[in-house]
Formats: sequence, C-alpha cells, structure tokens
Amino acid sequence: MLECANRRILVDCGMFQGSRELTEENATAFDFDPASVDFLLLTHAHLDHCGRLPLLAKRGFRGEVIATSATRELAHIVLTDAAHLQEEESRRQAYQRRGRGDEGVPAPLYTILDAFNSFDRFGRTVEYGQPLDLAPGIRVTFFDAGHILGSASVRVEATEGPHTRSILFSGDIGNAGRPLLPPPSPPGTADIVVMETTYGDRNHRSISDSVEELYSAIGAALGRGGNVIIPTFALERAQEILFALHQGVDRSKVTPALQVFLDSPMAISATEIFERHSELLNPRVTRLFREGDDPLRLPGLHFTRETADSMAINRITGGAVIMAGSGMCTGGRVRHHLRHNLWREESAVIFVGFAAHGTIARQIIDGAKQVRLFGEEIPVRSSIHTINGFSAHAGQRELLAWRRGIGGVQMTFLVHGEETAMNEFARHLQDCQVEMPRSGDIFDLGPAA
Ligand code: ZN
Repeated sequence: MLECANRRILVDCGMFQGSRELTEENATAFDFDPASVDFLLLTHAHLDHCGRLPLLAKRGFRGEVIATSATRELAHIVLTDAAHLQEEESRRQAYQRRGRGDEGVPAPLYTILDAFNSFDRFGRTVEYGQPLDLAPGIRVTFFDAGHILGSASVRVEATEGPHTRSILFSGDIGNAGRPLLPPPSPPGTADIVVMETTYGDRNHRSISDSVEELYSAIGAALGRGGNVIIPTFALERAQEILFALHQGVDRSKVTPALQVFLDSPMAISATEIFERHSELLNPRVTRLFREGDDPLRLPGLHFTRETADSMAINRITGGAVIMAGSGMCTGGRVRHHLRHNLWREESAVIFVGFAAHGTIARQIIDGAKQVRLFGEEIPVRSSIHTINGFSAHAGQRELLAWRRGIGGVQMTFLVHGEETAMNEFARHLQDCQVEMPRSGDIFDLGPAA
C-alpha cells in the first residue's frame, strides 16, 4: 500500500498459498480499511497477486483496478476458478462436519458472485510503456515483466508539493530466454525499488536442458507403457509445455502419436487468451501465429473441460501425457491422476513448477515414500522428475541484473520470497539501503529533510 498525494494505492492483493496455516491467513482482516483504497494496480493474474480482490471488494473496496488487458482477461478466469474451488471446499467441509453431527456450514472466503462483483472494479487498461495519470500528482507506467502474459512491473511517480519520488514495484520478474514471452523490459530509473525474491538464492537450469529432460522423461515413461502426469499451473506453464511438445513433434523428439490431455478448464481458457493476445508473445512465436501455425496445438491434443471427460482419462493406462492443476497438487483434478498413477512403476510424474513447503508436490519432490490423497495412503513408485528450467521466475542472476539495470536507486525493499532467499539476495546488494519489511511495517519514503 502506497499513500501519496492524498490517495491510497494498493499494488496487488494476493492470496496466500501453500500449507493449511498459510491458507487460513487469507480470511484475516486486511491491515487497512478496503473502502479507503482508491486504486489497485494489478501486476499480473497469478493468484498470489490478484487472489483476494473479490474479498477486498466484498469488504468495501470501491476503487479502480488498473491492469493490462491480458491481465484483466486472465484475472477473470483465475478468480472465477478460485471462487469455485472455495465454494467446493466449504461444501466438502460442511459434509465432513455433518458426519460429526455438526450442522454448521463454513462460509467460503468468497463466492463466484463475489468474484463477478469484483470484476466491476476493473477500470482503465494500460499499454506497456505508456504513462497514465491516475490522479493529480500520481502517474503510473507499466513495463513488460516477461513473467506471464500481460505481466508488468509498475513505476509510480508521486508528486507532493515540490518533491517527486518514483517507486518501482517489480511484480514478478520473468526468466529471460523463455520460449513464449519476450524478456523483461528495462524500466529505467527509480528512487525506490520494491522487488520480488522468489528465487533470490538460486539459479535455474537452462530452458533448453529442461526441454530435453522433458522429452526424455516422456519417452521413457511411454516406453514402459505408463502415463506421464504433469501437475501444472494453468497460466503460462501449461502453454509453455504445449509449445515444447509442439516443437518436440516438429523435431521428432517425441512421437507424433503422443496423446496429450490438457485437463483443466482454466488452462484451456488461458490457452485461448494466449491465442487472442499472440502479439504480446516473443516475436518468433507471434510470427508462427501469423503464418497460421498455432504453436500451442498438436495433433494428439485433447482439451477436456467436462468432468466426465476428465474421469474418462482415468481409464487410460499408458501412452498419455496428462496436464492438470493444481501445480502444487493442493487441489484440482491432478490429485485424481496422481491417485491412478503415482503407485505405478511404469508411470512418471514431472514437476515443472514451484512447490511451496507443506504441499503434496513438495512432499513427493522431497522423496516421500507415500502421500495422502482422498484419505488414502498412496505409495510413490512412479518415477519422479523435477525440471526447474521452466520457471516463470527470474533466477538470482537475472534478478540481480534487473535490479542493477535500474538507475538512481536509493532504497530496495525485498519482498515475496522465503526468508533464506531474501537474506541471500540482500548480500548481493551493497550499493543501497536494503529493507526486508514485515507485514504491517510502515516506511516514510519522502525525501530526506
Ligand atoms: Zn507470478
């Protein structure tokens, strides 16, 4: 939350994801009165950045949401899906409680109706690099963050009396050299930087190694007569994997007979939004679209929106690549596919994204011999692969390059990282004041007296 020129500006309003304790944090009161917020600048449509917008609106926010048009479209599907999952979860809990003789129904964090109401708060859309005057003394500019479609870093130039301060919020910064998106565009100068540190303590493997690893893991599992399960985030990662598979077929790295199921209504909708906004993609990819060769499609690709179609996949014992959410296996259809494949030596599970502590994905990656799904202990016998080069996040080297590319920085705030990542990253920033604020901390960013 930034207060300047008599306005209150919120940058993102995300949802905690991961362990149960973290998830419960979502229902706690905001540290401010939602009705007092004038603008919400949305950097991108990931749930940990936009996920509590419906709650914010339900609790009184009547201000304007500013975002790129791709972010706006993606946020609508992400929030509708999140609301649906929460309604489902509250029904499930009510059912469990009834079993214990308790008739209480826990309220969902927000409903689908709340999500739709919050969509009315979306106002102006912005183009990358084009300044927008929000109010007297407040100008914002969005820069392509190269993280997911429509993602942005946002610079706020705030003027009070004779003083102007520029504050740059990184949003999530992309991993340069990714196949679908252009690299993050340099945002120039800023007095103060507030930046993410998700991978502040490590670097990723290169994307090309990761793609090769993906092909070989798929080839091996299919050769054994098993399936491949890819728990995947619906935005970006799903489309990147589709793109890699498309290229794999083109280059004879995977069999053209490959049967691929995109088993996620949200990922299907996101893929369609990518196709509509192909001008925002890497120029090479944009050209493919223009030439009529949709690089997100392949011959054996099936979109399964309906539950019945999704359940039918459970009967396939071999030869299928199944992509489903959620990426961290905390919910969603992927849990059914894990239940049917995790115990089979011939199958493979390939993790291609971040897995927070406390999640099933993390347990499997850390070598659990069995995991609990639907109240059952499922032994882990399939081969397990972690391919981290697909990360939509900049690694340490790229975060540093991004930060060093910004001129005139006096102060850097590190946020959005686990504590070890932030501490490690802070060691590399010697040229300016570094802060690692805790929730609720307040800083005066005015020029020194
Ligand atoms: Zn993100």
